[in-house]
Amino acid sequence: MGESLLTNLPGTRDLLPEEVARWQLVEEKARGIFARYGFREIRTPILEATELFARSIGSDTDIVGKEMYTFPDQSGKSITLRPEATASVVRAYLQHTMYRGTGLAKLYYIGPMFRHEKKQKGRWRQFYQIGAEVLGSDHPAIEAEVVEMVLSLLSSLGVGSRLLINSVGCPDCRPKYVELLQGELRRHASELCEDCRRRTETNSLRVLDCKVESCQPIINGLPMMIDHLCETCRRHFDRFRDFLDRSGIAYELVPRLVRGLDYYVRTAFEIVSGELGAQNALVGGGRYDGLAEVLGGPPAQGFGFALGLDRLVMLLPEDVRGQAVNRPDLFLAYMGDAAFDKAWVIAQALRARGLNCYVDFSAGSLKSQLRLANKLEASHVLVIGDNELAEDRYPLRRMADSHQWNISLSELGTYLESQRARRTE
Ligand code: AMP
Repeated sequence: MGESLLTNLPGTRDLLPEEVARWQLVEEKARGIFARYGFREIRTPILEATELFARSIGSDTDIVGKEMYTFPDQSGKSITLRPEATASVVRAYLQHTMYRGTGLAKLYYIGPMFRHEKKQKGRWRQFYQIGAEVLGSDHPAIEAEVVEMVLSLLSSLGVGSRLLINSVGCPDCRPKYVELLQGELRRHASELCEDCRRRTETNSLRVLDCKVESCQPIINGLPMMIDHLCETCRRHFDRFRDFLDRSGIAYELVPRLVRGLDYYVRTAFEIVSGELGAQNALVGGGRYDGLAEVLGGPPAQGFGFALGLDRLVMLLPEDVRGQAVNRPDLFLAYMGDAAFDKAWVIAQALRARGLNCYVDFSAGSLKSQLRLANKLEASHVLVIGDNELAEDRYPLRRMADSHQWNISLSELGTYLESQRARRTE
């Protein structure tokens, strides 16, 4: 027996219209806030050469090792559905020589990412990220600005969160620290889990990320990068914190917060929400000054973040969810053929004025039409019957308070427009 064609693939989902309204609300907020900070949208392809991700994310990571949707296309070239978008944005920045001119590019993206992850609450195989990248600056203030931007998006949506920060050093200070760390890890090798023993040699910083219970006492006793920063990294981190302080942004310094790859430098951050449970990470970000060179381009400093849109939508409080409905301004209910024709004409005229109008086509009873109007959360219902047609005055009901009165068509449009303006104020 084949699988049912009436079921979507595991780890993917259909977003139905009520849900999409909430996504659109978040996306519109993001676009508005990002524009205030001078960010412009970039749309890169969802398909890229596999090598782009293998190089940028690193072959030792779970993403590249186990989770990518990779396949040969008809010409035999290995292509991958993007598991994240930073590599694509940096590729586009280099490909289109966006570093010419001012040198600084502030870009954001919104779109689907693909990772073949184990099934878990809060994890999907097709999920969505909103991300922003600043290319061409290593100023600590730009980092604080980007953090402020994403926090203001969250607070505008009524979502509470905590900011966690750390510095992962640079190619000057990190190798010495890694040596120290490896020495300690080797001393404790017999007490570490298998992954940590392997990572001790391949990517020792990632040991700090380990969640296995029995590794925790050892990890807690390890030396931390933050205590071994060179003078330049220390000063950079202090300035970053100073800009956060001046913006009134609270943070927690978490020395165990790391990024596994060499091209990540200095500032790393995460935003978490207690309400998400085990998968509590909402935003991950940091500085990646070495990435452009890893991809074969000229050096280009970079700083950015990716926010999990699926998780953010889950966190929206009730009052914000309530704002996210595309309700009709007017539902036109009718009784009889002549009334239907009139409803159709009125709807056309009002739509031309920018109002959302809904006419039911199922030729149901007045009662069933009113039920539908309720379901669609129409703001107003106009009832058209033979008597109303003769007098050219129609009962209009405002659904919020059930107030009902008679109105002429010449007043209707202006009235609905004024109501809509009040709602969107
Ligand atoms: P990352 O690109 O792994 O740093 O993830 C950045 C953010 O994307 C995370 O903090 C999550 O909010 C979100 N995210 C990552 N993977 C998934 C997934 N499989 N399902 C849903 N959200 C995800």
